[in-house]
Amino acid sequence: MRSSGRNNDNRSSGGNGGRGRDSSRSTSRNTSRNTSRSSQRDNRGAGNSRDDRQQRSGRPPRPEERRYDQGGRGDDRNAPGGRGRGGQGGPGGRGAPGGKGGGPGGKGAPGGKGGGPGRRRPAPPARSREYEAQIEERNRERHANKSTASKLPKTFDEPEGERLQKVLARAGLGSRRACEELIDQSRVEVNGRIVTSQGKRVNPDQDEIKVDGLTVASQSHLYFALNKPAGVVSAMEDPEGRQCLGDYVQNRETRLFHVGRLDTETEGLLLLTNHGELAHRLTHPRYGVTKTYLAAIQGPIPRDLGKRLKEGVRLEDGHVRADHFRVVENTGKNYLVEVVLHEGRKHIVRRMLAEVGFPVDRLVRTGFGPIVLGDQKSGWLRRMTNTEVGRLLREVGL
Ligand code: URA
Repeated sequence: MRSSGRNNDNRSSGGNGGRGRDSSRSTSRNTSRNTSRSSQRDNRGAGNSRDDRQQRSGRPPRPEERRYDQGGRGDDRNAPGGRGRGGQGGPGGRGAPGGKGGGPGGKGAPGGKGGGPGRRRPAPPARSREYEAQIEERNRERHANKSTASKLPKTFDEPEGERLQKVLARAGLGSRRACEELIDQSRVEVNGRIVTSQGKRVNPDQDEIKVDGLTVASQSHLYFALNKPAGVVSAMEDPEGRQCLGDYVQNRETRLFHVGRLDTETEGLLLLTNHGELAHRLTHPRYGVTKTYLAAIQGPIPRDLGKRLKEGVRLEDGHVRADHFRVVENTGKNYLVEVVLHEGRKHIVRRMLAEVGFPVDRLVRTGFGPIVLGDQKSGWLRRMTNTEVGRLLREVGL
């Protein structure tokens, strides 16, 4: 079935199969890489490893000799799990574990600055155990009382908040320089006032920041769009072990909510976020956010089907009315119809169409408010763009 003429291939082109294939391929690649690495390590034999040789020679390790492969998560930005593939929302998005970290090889790691041959520092004098214990005790206290530091009176006026261009850049609006240009072009407003000069500081958790009239998601909120395949349960966990939404958002540091549900057999656009208020408003009848569906039904259909649906159909739990209806495609007996509703009741489209004599063979959600499925493949999760998030927030008055 196509969504806006482009989603027809979802099942065959991607789907779970695609996802599974990709991950199994990468898993096997990783596995073979790991195996060869570990066998190399094993082949060195006792006393013949790089570290052992180094110890014997009595010199500190050269940069190329440092062991980046030890100690788990490193500081390598290019390593899998660092930046990249954020758009797909797969493991390894920004902020994923394994991104920036203080792993071995960072500043101050053994063999770091000044560790090259000829620049050796004399070994530090040995410290007594008591002295070591004192230092440890002091560090522990300092760590435990971290919060008291902020209560200390400031000795000079520290500027409050963060620089506006920095917050904008972090929210994905471009480099800091590009964000300064947005400010120069008077396109940025803070709490309803256009910012006309550089140097403005803001509190991203409290101030309302807009660019071109759209709210900027400056807090640490996450917004994803999933093309849910048929057969996936709309829940983060499934006690029966069926595939569920949780399988698509594993290993994330924050808890995500799914915005409403789709029947297990219904496919298409499902939004996920950790912005609780947004999720709540998007599903609350008061805000009447529209959802667009493509339904495959069997014809022939009467000319006035759209009129009947728009006038309202009586169901056991009350009336339901379509906001829009149109025939998208018709081949012989097979019809593809688009129905737009602002209702969120269970099985609502299926029940509505069945009530007027056209049970649904296949159902895909292609739009949720201003967000469209487009040609996003089945089973793929993507981060929503800033513009999309801004539009969603605006839709529900946030
Ligand atoms: N209507 C349905 O019938 N099913 C859904 O999943 C969503 C709307």
